[in-house]
Amino acid sequence: MPKVLIIEDDPTIRTAVMRALTDKGYAVAAAHTAMNGLQLAMSEYPDVVVLDLGLPDLDGREVIRMLRAVSEVPVIVATARESEAEIVRSLDAGADDYLVKPFGAAQLDARIRAVLRRAAEPQAEAVIEVGGLRVDRRARQASLDGAALDLTPREFDLLHYLAVRAGTVVTKQELLVEVWQQPYGGADKSVDVHLSWLRRKLGETAQKPRYLHTVRRVGVRLAAPNEPGAPGAPQAPGGPQAPGAPGTPGAPPEPEAPG
Ligand code: CA
Repeated sequence: MPKVLIIEDDPTIRTAVMRALTDKGYAVAAAHTAMNGLQLAMSEYPDVVVLDLGLPDLDGREVIRMLRAVSEVPVIVATARESEAEIVRSLDAGADDYLVKPFGAAQLDARIRAVLRRAAEPQAEAVIEVGGLRVDRRARQASLDGAALDLTPREFDLLHYLAVRAGTVVTKQELLVEVWQQPYGGADKSVDVHLSWLRRKLGETAQKPRYLHTVRRVGVRLAAPNEPGAPGAPQAPGGPQAPGAPGTPGAPPEPEAPG
């Protein structure tokens, strides 16, 4: 049975959540401070952590970062109010999902099952290589042409998601659902912002893409620079222009570096 670690300082909520999860068949460990929770996260090997963002000893985002430094355990944050900024900060710090208090046992159970499902996805391709890009899922590290990329957890998740699907177009809505885990959308600027940060770290721009190719009004496609169909790649003689490739009349073709 999956083990859930609850980190919550409010004894009423903590007890209620523990009881609800025990009734649903989970093994439960509970902590009332962030420090206690971090200790239990390392000694109890929970499958999921449910983390209250309002703890007396540490800021919730700090707890997420410290958890992330030692474990890939899925983290669901519980917030006292629907604060989009707080939720986005938590998700950016590495949380997997969130719940707004008060939440029911059924909702909590559904979120836990969802993150467990995602965590159980096949780990077959631990390392993905696309051109000079290398994405190591287990180490959560990426490199470009041998140089390590300094990515935030969200940037890594985004790059990994696109790299797994290299060559295919991924919509912003799909990214919101699968990477941001926001099935109701509404924050797709976040996708654009993270894509632009990722581009900068890959040393490219939307205007001069190498790996991250914008597909106008649809989404984005990750492709190696020398793959057919990637803008800037040598076209097969008489080959058709890749669909969705941005037309920039008057722009001269970029000179190829020899070798
Ligand atoms: Ca609290």
